Parts: sequence; C-alpha cells; structure tokens
Amino acid sequence: MSASDASRDPLGEGGFETICAHYGEHRLAHGGGAAPPLYQTSTFVYPDAEAFDRRLLPQNPYFDYTRVSNPTTALLEAKVARLEHGTWCRAFGSGMGAISSAINATIAQGAHVVAVANCYPPTREFLQQYLPKFGVQTTFVTSLDPQAFIAAMRPETKLVYLESPTFGVNHLIEIPPITAAARARGAATIFDNSWATPYFQNPLDLGVDLVVHSATKYIGGHSDVVAGLVIGRDESLRQALRKEGELHGATLDPFAAWLLVRGLRTLALRMRQHEQSGLAVARMLAEHPAVAQVNHPGLETHPNYAVGRRQLRGCAALFSFALRDQSKEATHRVLNRLRLFSIGVSWGGFESLALGGTYFDAPDHKPTWLIRLSIGLECADDLIADLRQALED
Ligand SMILES: *Cc1c(COP(=O)(O)O)cnc(C)c1O
Repeated sequence: MSASDASRDPLGEGGFETICAHYGEHRLAHGGGAAPPLYQTSTFVYPDAEAFDRRLLPQNPYFDYTRVSNPTTALLEAKVARLEHGTWCRAFGSGMGAISSAINATIAQGAHVVAVANCYPPTREFLQQYLPKFGVQTTFVTSLDPQAFIAAMRPETKLVYLESPTFGVNHLIEIPPITAAARARGAATIFDNSWATPYFQNPLDLGVDLVVHSATKYIGGHSDVVAGLVIGRDESLRQALRKEGELHGATLDPFAAWLLVRGLRTLALRMRQHEQSGLAVARMLAEHPAVAQVNHPGLETHPNYAVGRRQLRGCAALFSFALRDQSKEATHRVLNRLRLFSIGVSWGGFESLALGGTYFDAPDHKPTWLIRLSIGLECADDLIADLRQALED
C-alpha cells in the first residue's frame, strides 16, 4: 500500500458504527473491495531466507502461521479492541476458548479465585471442577453486594471473575468497588460482557483488566459462527493471552473472523432493535396475569434497576420470566405452544429462542422454574402475539 493510498483510505475514527464500518480496513490496498479479503490460509510464505529469520520480530511485516495470527482475524481484533476501549484483542475459536485462556493467563499454581456464583455454567465448571487439579481453588460469591466479593479476597487471590447480568436470573452487580479492591490487592479481574456487548457496556472503563466475549452470541448475531474474544489494555496480559492462544490452540478460523467482521457492520443497529423488542415483550409479560415475575434489568421494577442505570447504556434482549404456576408441566406447556420461538440453547441471534429450566436464584438459592427468552429480530408484534396465545388458559 502506498502512502497516498493510505491517506485516501477512510480511517474509521469516530463513533461505534463508524468503527464497525471502516476502522482498520485498507480497502485501496485490497483492490478497492468494500468487503475485506478472506485470508483462508494456514501458512504464509516469505520473499527470502532473511525475511523468514525476522518473522518473529515485532516489527516483522509478514504473517507466519494462522494459529499465531492471520490478517482477517487481525482486522476483527483491531475493531473489537477499539469498540471495547482496549488497546488489544485476541480472538479464540469459542467463548469458552477465550474464557479458559483469560483465566489461565491470570492465575498460577495454588492460586485463589473469587467468582460470581451465578456465572455461565461451563465457566463455573472450569473453575470448580477443572482448576483444582492445579491446586487452584475458587470461592463462589452468591451475594450481589460488592462487599461480599471484597470480603472473599485473600492474600493469595490472583483473580476476581465477574459476569453481570448473572446467568438466568439477570441480577446486576456493581462493578467499580470490586475492581478497585482487586487492583489494590494485586488481583486481576475478568468480566464476561457477552450480554451487553460493547454497544451497551465497556467493563474496561469500570476498572476491569480483561473483557471476555462469546462472540457466538450478539457479535456474530446470525447463529452461524462459534467464536470468542479477549480484550485488554495491559501489555503483559496481551503477551500472556497470545501464548495461551498459541499453546492451547483454540484458534479462530479466518472465515469465522470474516463472518464476525460482517456481524459488526450491523451490531449497533441490531442491538437497538433487540433492546426495543425485548422491552416490549418484557412489558407485556409483566402485565400478564399468568406471569409471576419478569427478570429484565430494563424494567423499573427490577431489583437492581439503579445499578443498571449507572453501568449500562441499554439492555440486551436475553431475559427470563416465571409463571405463577410453578410446575414443570405448566412451563413445558407454554414452551410447547410457542410457534415463532424455537426451543434451543444459545442466544443473541436473529431468531427468537426459548428455554425452560430451574435456575438457582441467588442470593436465597430458591429454585424457580424460569422460561428464558432470547428476543430476535422478528416483528415484535408477532412475538408478543405468539407469547399471548402460548400463555392462554
Ligand atoms: C455462550 C456463552 C459463553 C460461551 O461461549 P461459546 O462461544 O459457546 O464457547 C460464555 N459466556 C456466556 C454468558 C455465554 O452465554
């Protein structure tokens, strides 16, 4: 790319949507293609032996091997780092690839971890079942009170793992007091921001060290890719995450990275629509006589509504509700009568999904039959009509 090409290339400096549309793209260096090139290659070749010898130097202009890095993936990483107010991002082959790598990068043998009890269940399993074989113990905090997290920290605490809203019941945790206390004690903090996306929340600005995403959800947005992301500002954590990626090898495929760049083009637009439709559905449910409770942090009746107003710029459309009839049969009956909502795991895609189950309702541990909804991009009136007919006697 010549200097004059570079000066004519839009830099994409500006707001969220502008970054998604233009940041990091050098279109004139790629034949003028509006869409970025897909480097679907495992290896990269060099013009001479000297260039090959220099390949591991930071100033090296060549890529080496796709498990280490790839230009299509690097474009995704550059955009997401900006969107999350970080200085770097590392992509992984799944959300769990990103989460387990971020955790591994911050702990050491015999370390202690403090974690939100109601985190994503495989994350909890990784902390509770897998890490003890390296002598790593986790204290799970069921309270939403930041003081409970601070009280659980010990001199050997290396990591505080956070997720808000919490899994299933959508409780919110106030983040800044926890990150400040962790930092003062020399412990790292990780925050799973899959629900809010960088459009509604930037945990790095709340004092978090590493943000993790299941990009499978809203960032991909089309239910056609499994991917994960880790974002940070600290240079030594950047090196540690690079090693986790290289040595554990949970690498993102270049085509998946290309699909995620495409997903980013409409992320802001989709999140605004998800929020609007999600709130419309939640408000209908909150007034419905068959419904006992709606766990949506955008409703004024939500117990942590004030925390949400401070931390979130808006609300995603994954939430749950409880029927007055707290039987499995009643819950299944509603699920089986839904027509537009499919029954399935995952969320954040264009299509609406529903799922029933009992989740432990921190802090009182009361098992509740909940229906979890992911509100997609269908016409909100159609979704409301579908839920109304499913809830009829
Ligand atoms: C799905 C999910 C993950 C894991 O992501 P994968 O891409 O499925 O590995 C992590 N955190 C949350 C909150 C999730 O919903």
